[in-house]
Amino acid sequence: MPDKWKEQALIDPERAAVFAESLHRDDPPALRKLEREALEAGVPIIRPQTRSLIHFLLEIRRPLQILEIGTAVGYSALYMHSFAPPGCRITTIEIDAGRAARARENFLRSGADDISLLQGDAAQILPSLEGPYDLILMDASKGQYIHFLPEVLRLLSPGGIIVSDNCLQDGEILESRYIVRRRDRTIHRRMREYLEALYASPSLVTVLLEAGDGIALSVRKSEKSL
Ligand code: SAM
Repeated sequence: MPDKWKEQALIDPERAAVFAESLHRDDPPALRKLEREALEAGVPIIRPQTRSLIHFLLEIRRPLQILEIGTAVGYSALYMHSFAPPGCRITTIEIDAGRAARARENFLRSGADDISLLQGDAAQILPSLEGPYDLILMDASKGQYIHFLPEVLRLLSPGGIIVSDNCLQDGEILESRYIVRRRDRTIHRRMREYLEALYASPSLVTVLLEAGDGIALSVRKSEKSL
C-alpha cells in the first residue's frame, strides 16, 4: 500500500462517522418521533449516514419505482417517501406480521398510505413482482441477501441502484471466519458470498462504503456498456 494511503487509513472510522452524523440535517421532523420509538423498542432502522446516502441517491437518480426488502416499522420507507420525486411508487416487504401492522399504522398516520406494504417472506414475494425498480434497498436478514440477489437483479432497471445495508456487520465481515463466533459463521460466509457476487456480476458496478454499518452500492450498467 503506498505510504500516502497508509496515512489516510489512520483516519478513525468511528470518529469520522460521529463527525458525519453531526453534520447530518436531513431527517424530516415528522419522523423524529418514529425514530425515537423504534430505537426505544430495539427496532433497528437505517443509520444517519445511510439516510444521507439514500437522500443523495434519490436526488440524482429520481426513481419512479422503489423496492425495499425489510420494512420493520416503516422508518426508511417513510424517509424515502419524504424525498422521492412526485409519482414515485414505493413497495416494501416485511416478514414479521406485528412489525408490518405497525408500519401500516405509521404510513396512515403520516399520510403515506400510497406506500405498498407486502407482508410475507421476501423469498416468496420477490418472484411475484414485475418491476422494474430504479432503486432497491436491501435491509432484511443479512444472511438472506445472497438468496434474494437473482430476483433483485431480474427486477432492477438499467441504471437502477441496489443499496445493501449492514454489509460489514460492525466490522465482523472483515475478520477471518475462524475469529468469528461459531454461531455467526453462516452469516459471515453468506455476506462475503453476497459481496463477491455483487462485485463479480457482469451487469453491475459495485462500491463498498464503510459508512454506517457498511453499505454496498451497486448500479446496473446500461445495455450498451454490457
Ligand atoms: N428498513 C428498516 C428501516 O430502516 O426502518 C429496517 C429494517 S430491519 C433492519 C430488518 C427487517 O427485515 C426486520 O423487520 C425483519 O423482520 C425483516 N426481514 C427479515 N427477513 C425478511 C424476509 N425474508 N422477508 C421480509 N422481511 C424480512
